[in-house]
Amino acid sequence: MKIPLRPSLLKVRRQSVKWIILHHTSEMYDEPGARIDNAKYQLKYLFNGVLEKKQGDVNYHYVIDKIKDDYIATVTRPFVYLCEWDDIDVNINNRAIHVALMGNYDFKVPEKRMYEVLAFRLLNPFMKMYHIAPNKIKMHYEVSSNKDLTCPGDFIDRAIVESMVRRFVIK
Ligand SMILES: [Zn+2]
Repeated sequence: MKIPLRPSLLKVRRQSVKWIILHHTSEMYDEPGARIDNAKYQLKYLFNGVLEKKQGDVNYHYVIDKIKDDYIATVTRPFVYLCEWDDIDVNINNRAIHVALMGNYDFKVPEKRMYEVLAFRLLNPFMKMYHIAPNKIKMHYEVSSNKDLTCPGDFIDRAIVESMVRRFVIK
């Protein structure tokens, strides 16, 4: 299954990156395959959701999916295009990179390896290139106008994200 590549539906980023926002995929895509992470390749369930919702592409720039025995970070929207989040202040969203964890972390406890892959492959490289401080990495619920939101999930521990970022700091 292939998503049609339709850059005309996407808005080009005009400002440099200043924020990284973390999500989990269960908030947006309803198919069970997008809500429970397992060892199978699951991006196709997000692609189904993109087609159903008539989006230009997956509404995250990167998704971390566990495939077989390790976590893989995949580009799901080229980061030169903005994601669409009505609940996030436009001044933040226009400068944000959105990273989603496959599954539902309100129910699932994250593995240490997931945090390691997140920090090493995504967070630290962007922090280095765009001079992003750790306090500019936000959980979706921290920047949302929706006060009931738990995204990226109750079990995602901010303190562990920060300690991993410190561990992989690029000098
Ligand atoms: Zn979210």
